[in-house]
Amino acid sequence: MECPLLWRGWMGYRNDPACTPVDVERMQELAAWTMLQLGTARQSPFCADVVETATGRRLMRRLNAVAREHDPSSHAEVRVIRASTKRLKKTSLAGYTLYTTCEPCPMCMATALWAGLDRVVYGATIGDASEHCAQIYTFAKDMVKRSDLKCEVVGPVARGECRGIFEEPRMLEMTRHWRKSTANIKK
Ligand SMILES: [Zn+2]
Repeated sequence: MECPLLWRGWMGYRNDPACTPVDVERMQELAAWTMLQLGTARQSPFCADVVETATGRRLMRRLNAVAREHDPSSHAEVRVIRASTKRLKKTSLAGYTLYTTCEPCPMCMATALWAGLDRVVYGATIGDASEHCAQIYTFAKDMVKRSDLKCEVVGPVARGECRGIFEEPRMLEMTRHWRKSTANIKK
């Protein structure tokens, strides 16, 4: 079924044709909630949900916590996957969908594949994020192509809203600081 918001998007961005109206709604809600965290100690442009695919019921939500946890692997997607498998007391997230405000990096997409998620739906692209902070240019859909494991990757969805988080003045200040404090950045 064609997504009714497909060809208008927001701020001129088109959604991935594979998205559903529910995906758009969920991503907009996730982006709006992430925006509300700006100005708090845990602000981050990266936030992710694990949702039961069949019912849409949310299992877990996590923000990026690299700085707070002094852990370079504490990306939102890895954190929400870990919290979800612990909650379910199993290693498989078959039957669940990951929503994330930004296209997962290779570490996060690999974790999603190992976890057996049905779908990964993302908002802003790695290219969008790279305007603000260092990125690794291996794209989520390519990771699936290079894997024996199945996962439907859908994105960008609500890209304008998710890009908007990066462009908020408090976030711009934070990402400027990240760039300065990333010792091994090439540019
Ligand atoms: Zn990541």
